[in-house]
Amino acid sequence: MADRLKNKVAVITGAARGIGAKSAEIFAQEGAAVAVWDVLEERGHTVVNNIIENNGRAFFCRCDVTSSNQIEGALDQTISNLGIPNVLFNNAGIAVVGEIEEISEEEWDHQYAVNVKSIYLVSRVVIPNMRQVGGGSIINMASESAYVGFPMHPAYTSSKAAVVHLSRSMAVRYASESIRVNSLCPGTIDTELLQEFLDQQENGDAVKKEIEDMHPLGIGTSEDIAWAAVYLASDESKYMTGAPMLVEGGILSL
Ligand code: NAD
Repeated sequence: MADRLKNKVAVITGAARGIGAKSAEIFAQEGAAVAVWDVLEERGHTVVNNIIENNGRAFFCRCDVTSSNQIEGALDQTISNLGIPNVLFNNAGIAVVGEIEEISEEEWDHQYAVNVKSIYLVSRVVIPNMRQVGGGSIINMASESAYVGFPMHPAYTSSKAAVVHLSRSMAVRYASESIRVNSLCPGTIDTELLQEFLDQQENGDAVKKEIEDMHPLGIGTSEDIAWAAVYLASDESKYMTGAPMLVEGGILSL
């Protein structure tokens, strides 16, 4: 175990699987106490048990990040069990697939509720606590798709662009209180989210190859993103705020 995140108490939303789960594991290895917030109870408990078996500190809270009541409950449990968070990784996200003329109004609203509104809902209750402990780091999960249009994902791509800009506004507001806010923009990462999208395609293997070819470094792993999140969570990035951190396999350099 290293100590890049020693003395950090981190909330990671959507941490029962994928990038969030890998981040929880690596944050704990680096010395953070980690609150795993997710709607997937069994998977969330597995992530926490694995961390504890490896001598880390972690706690699972069942929390739907679109519900302010559940968020308040999860924060209370987190504070009682691990302490006041000084790191918040707003990672939970979903990807609604479908062109503007295809997706329903409910799907559009749900996309924004999970990917954008949740950041407001969680941050507004965590920030007053962070302030009490002298500040902290907020990492908001965006995407390469904040910068690249994908025809099948107008709701998703625009929600991620909103995350980048929301982070900038939060950053300038809270800098004077030592609360840094950055966004993280991964390329395409090999998780169940990607696999579920590929499974919906007629020719998933060909689509995967196409996505791979679109990125100079191919498709990334959850670990690639978790290490970037460690940097943003740690004091190593103490002069960085409002920045979209690109870890996108080079697609934006094409
Ligand atoms: P994933 O689907 O494997 O994991 C997302 C997690 O969020 C799941 O555990 C899920 O249960 C949880 N979640 C979803 N809705 C929730 C809610 N309302 N409340 C609480 N938890 C909820 O996806 P992933 O690939 O690990 O993606 C994680 C984040 O990274 C997302 O924000 C995603 O948009 C972003 N991202 C992913 C990729 C990629 O290619 N995989 C690329 C760029 C950005």
